[in-house]
Amino acid sequence: MTDISTREMFQYLVGEVTRVRADEIDAHLAACHSCQTELDGLRGMIELMDEPDEELESVDLVPEVRKMIEIDSEKPRQHRRSLPAAVVLIGALLVAVAAVTIWTGFPEEREIFRAKSSGTMIPEQDRWVALRAYRLGESGQTGRLSTGMKNDDFLLFAYTNLGEQTKRYLMIFAVDARGKVHWYHPGYTSAESDPASMPIESNVTSEELPEKIRHDYSAGPLWIYSLFTDQPMKVSAVEAMISGLRPGERIPVEDSAQHILKTVVEP
Ligand SMILES: [Zn+2]
Repeated sequence: MTDISTREMFQYLVGEVTRVRADEIDAHLAACHSCQTELDGLRGMIELMDEPDEELESVDLVPEVRKMIEIDSEKPRQHRRSLPAAVVLIGALLVAVAAVTIWTGFPEEREIFRAKSSGTMIPEQDRWVALRAYRLGESGQTGRLSTGMKNDDFLLFAYTNLGEQTKRYLMIFAVDARGKVHWYHPGYTSAESDPASMPIESNVTSEELPEKIRHDYSAGPLWIYSLFTDQPMKVSAVEAMISGLRPGERIPVEDSAQHILKTVVEP
């Protein structure tokens, strides 16, 4: 059996593969050290979702919402393979939060969902989207991407796409200290291809993109952009826009929503 893809490992961890396939994967994992190491890293990443999310931390859920979440978490979950209880609970919570945003009819209650970094002026549309980045090291160690990373870390991403009119397309890329652009989504490897934004889910919180991606960055600050749009955009068009911007500056795309992260690549 060949190695297991990152995408399928995610499905395995959240209990979304058939029993027959799960048994095959178990057998492969028992014999393959590199897949086992990667699986441990991905499991660690999923467990990280148990940690408080700064996007949702400040959210003061209305009582009805809280009640719905409690009811949902008490439901027995069949068809699920054994996962740490916390992971299942967080899954239930995220599903409930997403469901509730559709259900809530009052703008002032919707508003409660996002009050990102109070004090700074954030365009209204940016309050409804978020990008989370995770690093996966060579030996399987995982972490939420924060102030630093190694050049050879793999990155994985999760996005949040909420709001009255959710965005339909997403691009994720980074600009390194020398101004070089590194693409994550869409993947962009050959100069002739000029891929477009990828379609995304609406009303989702921390939706994982099950691809691990590594680039050769210059040491120094690294800005990671997420660009949510109504229409798909081409890589070439976005690169042309970025070339005129200061590092970390918002990209001037009308009707877009953005969340920009900053980290530093160790020399
Ligand atoms: Zn393997």
